Amino acid sequence: MSDSQFTPRVFSGMQPSGGLTLGNYLGALKRYVEMQNEGTYETIYCMVDLHAITVWQDPAELASKTRELAAAYIAAGVDPEKSILINQSQVPEHTQLAWIFNTVARMGWMQRMTQFKDKAGKNAQNASLGLFAYPALMAADILVYHATHVPVGDDQKQHLELTRDIATKFNHDYGVDFFPITEPVIKGAATRVMSLRDGSKKMSKSDTSDASRINMTDDADTIAKKIRKAKTDPEPLPSEYKGLDDRPEARNLVNIYAALADISVDQVLADHGGAQFGTFKPALAELAVEKLSPIASEMTRLLNDVPEIDRLLARGAEQAREITQPILKRTYEIVGMVGA
Ligand code: ATP
Ligand code: MG
Repeated sequence: MSDSQFTPRVFSGMQPSGGLTLGNYLGALKRYVEMQNEGTYETIYCMVDLHAITVWQDPAELASKTRELAAAYIAAGVDPEKSILINQSQVPEHTQLAWIFNTVARMGWMQRMTQFKDKAGKNAQNASLGLFAYPALMAADILVYHATHVPVGDDQKQHLELTRDIATKFNHDYGVDFFPITEPVIKGAATRVMSLRDGSKKMSKSDTSDASRINMTDDADTIAKKIRKAKTDPEPLPSEYKGLDDRPEARNLVNIYAALADISVDQVLADHGGAQFGTFKPALAELAVEKLSPIASEMTRLLNDVPEIDRLLARGAEQAREITQPILKRTYEIVGMVGA
């Protein structure tokens, strides 16, 4: 089966499990906007509230975080006139297809997923079944649209591979060429932004330490302070990329600079090689404020009109279901369900 039988279609999503971080922006959201504006793809962007509740979420906060996430998408440049903007639980076909995929995915595949191991931590027996099944729902989120491309950060690569495995096994088991083999799009200088406190840990919105991350809504002083306090080493910046080997914290800040400025890492090092962190950090803070503060103020403006956000999400769900209902119906027919 050639991919050309599928409409070039992008799907991606984020959990309303906290405020967005610089990692979410550089690893994913910036790419959402680029792919939307390329004009090559139909684009669908989702708030994955059903994924968020795989770890405990306060109900009132979940609702406000979902709306905040919608506002962040729009403020960063996702245009509801060009992209379909949805909240996962408002499009029930996601969970309906997820059940089918629970029967396709194998226990051994799921047990290899590093996100589950990281999030369940030492007390895996007490993690929710939903946290374990998360990647099968994610595969359904993507495949219920027959999405061909998924922009994500590097940490989601393994889940995308699982999505491809599920599509392949479904097609094989039922003797069809029904689901596409989706391509991950992991691009840019900052596909894995690391914690500011620990260069071996990913920056996450659910990290208990606020100092570990830059939030999209942090003000200028907070951003400057967090970057000033970011863990680094005493050496000046090198002039070449290989000089960053074994210097994860320094490499992280250089990658962030390159991604924010839309220039190559080589260019950053050509400009700042030899500089001490005492000079590089303030330059980075200034750049981060310049890029993030317009998005944060637009978010605040949008959140003044919650009914408008809810209206956009209801409309998005209707548009989405024009795609998901026929795909789910056909899946049920293939599987042999009466009445499909
Ligand atoms: P949580 O800690 O609740 O899992 P998160 O910060 O990991 O939150 P997600 O909603 O899980 O955010 O992921 C949304 C998108 O952001 C995904 O595409 C993911 O790959 C990307 N992403 C998350 N963290 C980073 C990071 N540190 N660097 C680059 N991309 C990231
Ligand atoms: Mg995550």
